Amino acid sequence: MLTLTIFENNLTLLIGIRLLIETFAAGYFYLQCNDSAGEPIQELQQDYEMADMSFSSSKGDNGQFESQTPDRNECQECKIVQSYRTKHCSKCQKCIPKYDHHCFWIGGCVGELNHRMYWLFLFFQCSLCFDGLIQFQNQFVFYSIYDEEYGYDQYKYQYFIILIMAATSFAFGLFTGTLLIYHTILILTGKTTWEQTKRDKISYLIFYPKYYHPYNYGLIENIKQTFFHKDILSHWIPPQKDQIKEQCNIFDNKYYSCC
Ligand SMILES: [Zn+2]
Ligand SMILES: [Zn+2]
Repeated sequence: MLTLTIFENNLTLLIGIRLLIETFAAGYFYLQCNDSAGEPIQELQQDYEMADMSFSSSKGDNGQFESQTPDRNECQECKIVQSYRTKHCSKCQKCIPKYDHHCFWIGGCVGELNHRMYWLFLFFQCSLCFDGLIQFQNQFVFYSIYDEEYGYDQYKYQYFIILIMAATSFAFGLFTGTLLIYHTILILTGKTTWEQTKRDKISYLIFYPKYYHPYNYGLIENIKQTFFHKDILSHWIPPQKDQIKEQCNIFDNKYYSCC
């Protein structure tokens, strides 16, 4: 009965088409995310070693030589010297360049090469949920007008389905929306989830003052590095300690950090 009544109303068909398009878009970006975080490139090691040699140390106040750049870690599992911002994922069993997090939903890691796809996935997923919510609300109003017109309650079943779908859309929309906002701020400030949540444990970050993030290059450059990297891994060579400048933006400064 529901399938018959559902097409009595063009609005339902319109909703179906819209939601189908959005589902395909979200699905496309989901598939693009999967297992495409990036592989560590061995050739990079040479560049890092050359960079290390050129400015690895200088004399400190006490006359001792002190390192000007943080040391890089070795991965015992992969037997490589990791480039900066790389972390080994025990679930994927490999090192992930510019590691963000291991995502249960995409079944793999979010790293340098798929962070933009992950963001787009969240964006379309969130749009799908909130668009769905608006459409379900329109449906609700549509049926209630019919109810009023005919004076008897004949759409109880439809109301129930609409409410369940609207509640599901809202819950997922809230979840993906929160993640979307969080990742937008991370991208704008040049950070990853790992760097944001484990800052005190990451050797190349504790090397610098607490409110200084060595890979924050400004809003425009941060956006370019996430969304326009042409599938090429970056050389994340950190600045020398004695050349760092004070950073100040609305998300991060010496007074507060918003995420
Ligand atoms: Zn590894
Ligand atoms: Zn992983």
